[in-house]
Amino acid sequence: LFVSFEGIDGSGKSTQARRLADSLTARGYQTVLTREPGGSAGAEEIRALVLQGDPDRWSAETELLLFTAARRDHLERTIRPALAAGQIVICDRFADSTRMYQGLSRGDLRGAVDQLHELMIGQEPDITALIDMDPAAGLARAKSRQTVEERFEDFGVTLQEKMRAGFLALAQEFPDRIHVIDGNRPEGEVAQDVLAAVDSCLP
Ligand code: C5P
Repeated sequence: LFVSFEGIDGSGKSTQARRLADSLTARGYQTVLTREPGGSAGAEEIRALVLQGDPDRWSAETELLLFTAARRDHLERTIRPALAAGQIVICDRFADSTRMYQGLSRGDLRGAVDQLHELMIGQEPDITALIDMDPAAGLARAKSRQTVEERFEDFGVTLQEKMRAGFLALAQEFPDRIHVIDGNRPEGEVAQDVLAAVDSCLP
C-alpha cells in the first residue's frame, strides 16, 4: 500500500505521516516512512540543490526537471523496492506537490508536469491524505520552524491561499484517491480521521 500526505506548508502533514507510521507499525505492519523532495540518497542531494541557496538559481522549468529527477530516484531506490517487499510506504508529499508547486507557483506549467509524470513516474499513491489547513495558520506554524523557503515571488499568505485552493481542486480531480481531512483540529483527532481513511484501503 502506498500512502501519501499532501497539504500546504505548516499543515501538519509530517506529524500526521509519522503518527500513521507509528500506528500501523504498532499493529504489526512493516512500514517505510519517507518524504519528498528526498527519500533516497540521490534525491536528498537534489533536495539540497533545489531548496538551499539562491532562490533564483533555477528557472521554473529546470526546477520541475530537478524535482522529477528526484522523484524518479526515490521511486526506483526506495518506494518500488518497499512496495515489492509488501511494505506500506508512507510518503510526506509526492506528485501532487509538484502539480501544485512546480505546476502553479511560478506560472502555469501543469501541462508539462503531467506529461513528465506520465513519461517518467507513472505511479500514484493508493490513497492520499490531504491535510486541509487555514493558510495563515499554516504559514505562522511553518515560519516558526523556519522550514519555509522564500523561493517564490508571491511568498506568503497569497501563495498559501493559492496552494490551498489548488489542492482542494486537485481533490475534486482525483476524488477516489484524495481524502480531504480537516487539519484545523487537535492532532489526535486529525490522526484518527487519517487512520480511518487508510483503514478502508488495508487488506
Ligand atoms: O514539505 P517540506 O516542508 O519538506 O517542503 C520543503 C519546501 O519545499 C516547502 O517550502 C515546500 O513548499 C517546497 N516544495 C516545493 N515543491 C515540491 C515540494 C515541496 O516547492 N514539489
